[in-house]
Formats: sequence, structure tokens, C-alpha cells
Amino acid sequence: MEKVTVKDREFTPFIREDEILRQVCRVAGEINRDYDGKDPIFLCILNGSFMFAADLLRNITIPCNVSFVKLASYEGTDTTGKVKEVMGLNESIEGRHVIIVEDIVDTGFTMRDILNSLSSKGAASVAVCTMLCKPEKLQVDINLKYLAMNIPNGFIVGYGLDYDGYGRNLRDIYRIVK
Ligand code: 5GP
Ligand code: MG
Repeated sequence: MEKVTVKDREFTPFIREDEILRQVCRVAGEINRDYDGKDPIFLCILNGSFMFAADLLRNITIPCNVSFVKLASYEGTDTTGKVKEVMGLNESIEGRHVIIVEDIVDTGFTMRDILNSLSSKGAASVAVCTMLCKPEKLQVDINLKYLAMNIPNGFIVGYGLDYDGYGRNLRDIYRIVK
């Protein structure tokens, strides 16, 4: 594998597609086992999770629903910082077993906001399935029930993840060259 230039920065090969797919299949197997007979609904967080979601769901063999949602950020008027809300969730998740599909958990603030946003919608259960996590950066206590890979700090692109809108189409994951 070669270095790539995405927009104006250089990136070096980090995780190969075949290794990603091996871990994605393992996670899918865990979900197939845990959710057999539970009719789960996967909520895939756009844009970053689209490639992970596609590969994960191709390996899900139990009956399930799949939905795609986006996050909207608001500048809170009475709170500090941004509050993210799940947009585009048209179907009811009341009484459903929800599996959130995310590309990467870094500080964990985004995932905390997603979980908060869903907490009033009456789901029977909510679990998180993330392709990647940077444990050294994690600042929030959340249970990442399904995790493909832990990675060290450093900005990455590829396999759905972007740098300024570019690089999502790369088959492998690359890390930024400092
Ligand atoms: P958090 O709220 O956990 O700090 O950040 C989560 C979001 O930041 C992810 O959903 C992702 O969009 C973005 N992010 C975090 N780390 C990276 C990275 O290394 N590369 C890219 N492309 N996005 C990242
Ligand atoms: Mg994301």
C-alpha cells in the first residue's frame, strides 16, 4: 500500500480493508447471536458510517430493519457547547431494540448526544456498534457494546471517514502524516 494525498494532506496506510472486514464480520456474528429473535433496528449515523454499515449489514443474517439518520448540531442558547440531535428518524422506535451504527467514537460527546436524543423515544434497548474507538481520547462513560477496533490517537481517513469531505471512498483506512 502506498501513501495517499487527500486534498492537501498526506496520509499513510494504517488498517487494510481485509483486516477491517475480518473485524466487521466478527462484530456481525456477535450481533446475530445476541439479537436472534429480537427484530432489531439499526440506526446508521450518516455520513461517516455508510461503508461500515453496508459491510456490517451484509453479514447480519437475522431479520432486522435498517434506517439512516443524520445529526443536527445546535448552538445551545441556555447551555454551553453544541447539542446534537438525531434527524430523519421517521419510524417509531418505541418498544424496539435499537443498534446505533457509528464510524468512530473519539471523545464520546457525539455518542452521548445521540443516546440522550433517543432516550425519550421509548426504545426497548439501545446498544452502540462502532467501527473504531480512540480510548485515549474518550471522556464520557459510555458502553461500546460492539466495537470492531480500538486505535491510538491520530486523524484517520478512508472507509467512510473524511478529511474535509474527501477520502470517504478509500477502501483502506489511512492515518495523517504529521
Ligand atoms: P466525538 O464526539 O466522539 O469526539 O467525535 C466523533 C465524531 O468525530 C465522529 O463521528 C467522526 O465524525 C469525527 N471523528 C473523530 N475522529 C476522527 C478521525 O480520526 N477522522 C475522521 N475523519 N473523523 C473523526
Ligand atoms: Mg460520525
